[in-house]
Amino acid sequence: MMYQAIDLKQWTYCPRVFYYQRCLPRIRPTTYLMEAGTAEGKTAEGREKRRSLQTYGLTAGTRHFNVPLRSDVLGLTGEADLVIETQQANRVEWIPVDYKLSRKVGKHFKLQLTAYAMMLEEMHAVKVQRAFIYLIPLRKATAVNITTRLRNELSTALKNMRLTETRQQMPPPTAQLRKCQSCEFRRFCNDIAI
Ligand code: SF4
Repeated sequence: MMYQAIDLKQWTYCPRVFYYQRCLPRIRPTTYLMEAGTAEGKTAEGREKRRSLQTYGLTAGTRHFNVPLRSDVLGLTGEADLVIETQQANRVEWIPVDYKLSRKVGKHFKLQLTAYAMMLEEMHAVKVQRAFIYLIPLRKATAVNITTRLRNELSTALKNMRLTETRQQMPPPTAQLRKCQSCEFRRFCNDIAI
Protein backbone atom coordinates (compact mmCIF):
# COMPACT_ATOMS: atom_id res chain seq x y z
CA MET A 1 0.00 0.00 0.00
CA MET A 2 1.98 3.03 -1.24
CA TYR A 3 1.03 6.55 -0.18
CA GLN A 4 1.99 9.98 -1.38
CA ALA A 5 3.42 12.64 0.92
CA ILE A 6 0.29 14.65 0.18
CA ASP A 7 -1.85 11.85 1.68
CA LEU A 8 0.14 12.25 4.87
CA LYS A 9 -0.44 15.99 4.81
CA GLN A 10 -4.17 15.48 4.42
CA TRP A 11 -4.30 12.88 7.18
CA THR A 12 -2.57 15.28 9.56
CA TYR A 13 -4.88 18.15 8.61
CA CYS A 14 -7.99 16.01 9.12
CA PRO A 15 -8.09 12.19 8.86
CA ARG A 16 -11.44 12.41 7.13
CA VAL A 17 -9.97 14.31 4.20
CA PHE A 18 -7.62 11.36 3.69
CA TYR A 19 -10.55 8.93 4.04
CA TYR A 20 -12.63 10.71 1.39
CA GLN A 21 -9.63 10.92 -0.90
CA ARG A 22 -8.54 7.28 -0.61
CA CYS A 23 -11.76 5.40 0.14
CA LEU A 24 -14.28 7.52 -1.83
CA PRO A 25 -12.07 9.06 -4.54
CA ARG A 26 -14.92 9.86 -6.94
CA ILE A 27 -16.53 12.44 -4.71
CA ARG A 28 -13.56 14.78 -4.37
CA PRO A 29 -14.36 18.21 -5.79
CA THR A 30 -11.71 20.52 -7.29
CA THR A 31 -11.89 23.79 -5.44
CA TYR A 32 -10.75 27.27 -6.29
CA LEU A 33 -8.15 27.02 -3.50
CA MET A 34 -6.62 23.85 -4.98
CA GLU A 35 -6.39 25.40 -8.45
CA ALA A 36 -4.98 28.64 -7.03
CA GLY A 37 -2.39 26.67 -5.05
CA THR A 38 -1.18 24.86 -8.18
CA ALA A 39 -0.94 28.09 -10.19
CA GLU A 40 0.87 29.90 -7.37
CA GLY A 41 3.31 27.01 -7.02
CA LYS A 42 4.32 27.39 -10.68
CA THR A 43 4.79 31.15 -10.24
CA ALA A 44 6.82 30.54 -7.08
CA GLU A 45 9.21 28.32 -9.00
CA GLY A 46 9.84 31.14 -11.49
CA ARG A 47 10.55 33.55 -8.65
CA GLU A 48 12.77 30.99 -6.91
CA LYS A 49 15.11 30.90 -9.91
CA ARG A 50 15.72 34.63 -9.48
CA ARG A 51 16.04 34.48 -5.70
CA SER A 52 19.30 34.32 -3.74
CA LEU A 53 20.06 31.23 -1.68
CA GLN A 54 20.48 33.62 1.24
CA THR A 55 16.71 33.25 1.60
CA TYR A 56 17.65 29.90 3.18
CA GLY A 57 20.75 31.17 4.97
CA LEU A 58 23.06 29.58 2.38
CA THR A 59 25.89 31.08 0.38
CA ALA A 60 26.16 28.33 -2.24
CA GLY A 61 24.27 25.33 -3.52
CA THR A 62 22.49 23.74 -6.46
CA ARG A 63 18.73 23.91 -6.80
CA HIS A 64 16.82 20.90 -8.14
CA PHE A 65 13.17 21.55 -9.00
CA ASN A 66 10.23 19.13 -8.90
CA VAL A 67 12.28 16.26 -7.51
CA PRO A 68 10.56 12.83 -7.53
CA LEU A 69 11.08 10.97 -4.25
CA ARG A 70 10.42 7.45 -3.06
CA SER A 71 10.89 5.23 -0.02
CA ASP A 72 10.17 1.52 -0.24
CA VAL A 73 10.78 1.22 3.50
CA LEU A 74 8.07 3.75 4.37
CA GLY A 75 5.85 2.94 1.38
CA LEU A 76 5.86 6.57 0.32
CA THR A 77 6.32 8.57 -2.86
CA GLY A 78 6.21 12.30 -3.52
CA GLU A 79 7.59 15.20 -5.45
CA ALA A 80 9.43 18.02 -3.66
CA ASP A 81 8.98 21.50 -5.12
CA LEU A 82 12.67 22.12 -4.57
CA VAL A 83 15.68 20.30 -3.13
CA ILE A 84 18.84 22.30 -2.42
CA GLU A 85 22.11 20.39 -2.60
CA THR A 86 24.84 22.16 -0.69
CA GLN A 87 28.21 21.48 0.89
CA GLN A 88 28.39 21.97 4.66
CA ALA A 89 31.54 21.12 6.67
CA ASN A 90 32.91 18.70 4.06
CA ARG A 91 29.67 16.83 3.62
CA VAL A 92 26.83 17.12 1.16
CA GLU A 93 23.58 18.35 2.64
CA TRP A 94 20.16 17.90 0.98
CA ILE A 95 17.47 20.37 2.02
CA PRO A 96 13.87 19.92 0.82
CA VAL A 97 11.75 23.05 0.30
CA ASP A 98 8.00 23.25 -0.22
CA TYR A 99 6.05 26.32 -1.37
CA LYS A 100 2.77 26.97 0.41
CA LEU A 101 -0.06 29.37 -0.30
CA SER A 102 -0.38 30.01 3.42
CA ARG A 103 0.61 32.56 6.04
CA LYS A 104 1.51 30.02 8.73
CA VAL A 105 3.36 26.75 9.15
CA GLY A 106 0.84 24.06 10.08
CA LYS A 107 1.71 20.64 11.51
CA HIS A 108 0.44 19.02 8.28
CA PHE A 109 3.07 20.95 6.27
CA LYS A 110 5.80 19.83 8.68
CA LEU A 111 4.81 16.17 8.29
CA GLN A 112 4.85 16.50 4.50
CA LEU A 113 8.39 17.92 4.67
CA THR A 114 9.44 15.19 7.11
CA ALA A 115 8.27 12.67 4.50
CA TYR A 116 10.41 14.39 1.85
CA ALA A 117 13.39 14.41 4.23
CA MET A 118 13.08 10.72 5.07
CA MET A 119 12.71 9.76 1.41
CA LEU A 120 15.83 11.78 0.55
CA GLU A 121 17.69 9.98 3.33
CA GLU A 122 16.82 6.59 1.90
CA MET A 123 17.66 7.60 -1.67
CA HIS A 124 21.00 9.24 -0.90
CA ALA A 125 22.10 7.47 2.30
CA VAL A 126 22.43 10.79 4.14
CA LYS A 127 20.93 12.38 7.22
CA VAL A 128 18.50 15.23 6.47
CA GLN A 129 18.21 17.48 9.47
CA ARG A 130 16.34 20.49 8.17
CA ALA A 131 13.89 21.65 5.56
CA PHE A 132 12.11 24.89 4.64
CA ILE A 133 8.54 25.95 4.03
CA TYR A 134 8.33 28.96 1.75
CA LEU A 135 5.19 30.94 2.64
CA ILE A 136 4.25 32.53 -0.68
CA PRO A 137 1.98 35.37 0.63
CA LEU A 138 4.69 36.46 3.10
CA ARG A 139 7.62 35.77 0.73
CA LYS A 140 9.37 34.16 3.65
CA ALA A 141 11.22 30.87 4.18
CA THR A 142 10.71 29.21 7.57
CA ALA A 143 13.07 26.46 8.73
CA VAL A 144 11.69 23.15 9.96
CA ASN A 145 13.97 20.86 11.98
CA ILE A 146 13.38 17.22 11.13
CA THR A 147 13.17 16.03 14.71
CA THR A 148 12.75 12.55 16.19
CA ARG A 149 9.29 13.60 17.28
CA LEU A 150 8.23 14.49 13.73
CA ARG A 151 9.68 11.21 12.45
CA ASN A 152 7.71 9.24 15.07
CA GLU A 153 4.53 11.15 14.24
CA LEU A 154 5.03 10.27 10.58
CA SER A 155 5.37 6.54 11.40
CA THR A 156 2.26 6.60 13.59
CA ALA A 157 0.28 8.47 10.94
CA LEU A 158 1.26 5.98 8.23
CA LYS A 159 0.21 3.07 10.45
CA ASN A 160 -3.19 4.64 11.15
CA MET A 161 -3.69 5.57 7.49
CA ARG A 162 -3.17 1.92 6.50
CA LEU A 163 -5.60 0.74 9.18
CA THR A 164 -8.24 3.24 8.04
CA GLU A 165 -7.95 2.24 4.41
CA THR A 166 -7.85 -1.49 5.13
CA ARG A 167 -10.96 -1.28 7.30
CA GLN A 168 -12.65 1.34 5.09
CA GLN A 169 -13.66 3.00 8.32
CA MET A 170 -14.50 6.71 8.45
CA PRO A 171 -12.42 8.46 11.16
CA PRO A 172 -13.98 10.96 13.58
CA PRO A 173 -14.06 14.60 12.47
CA THR A 174 -11.28 17.00 13.31
CA ALA A 175 -11.41 18.51 16.79
CA GLN A 176 -10.56 21.92 15.25
CA LEU A 177 -13.93 22.73 13.72
CA ARG A 178 -12.72 26.04 12.26
CA LYS A 179 -11.06 23.89 9.59
CA CYS A 180 -14.48 22.71 8.44
CA GLN A 181 -15.60 26.19 7.40
CA SER A 182 -13.45 26.20 4.27
CA CYS A 183 -13.29 22.44 3.70
CA GLU A 184 -14.31 21.10 0.31
CA PHE A 185 -15.87 18.06 2.03
CA ARG A 186 -18.06 20.08 4.36
CA ARG A 187 -21.32 18.87 2.74
CA PHE A 188 -20.35 15.23 3.31
CA CYS A 189 -19.70 15.64 7.04
CA ASN A 190 -23.22 15.82 8.38
CA ASP A 191 -22.29 14.99 11.96
CA ILE A 192 -20.49 18.23 12.75
CA ALA A 193 -22.17 21.34 14.13
CA ILE A 194 -20.72 24.61 12.89
S1 SF4 B 1 -15.61 19.13 7.01
FE1 SF4 B 1 -14.28 19.09 8.82
S2 SF4 B 1 -14.39 16.99 9.61
FE2 SF4 B 1 -15.18 16.96 7.48
S3 SF4 B 1 -13.40 16.45 6.23
FE3 SF4 B 1 -13.54 18.68 6.29
S4 SF4 B 1 -12.21 19.30 8.00
FE4 SF4 B 1 -12.61 17.12 8.23
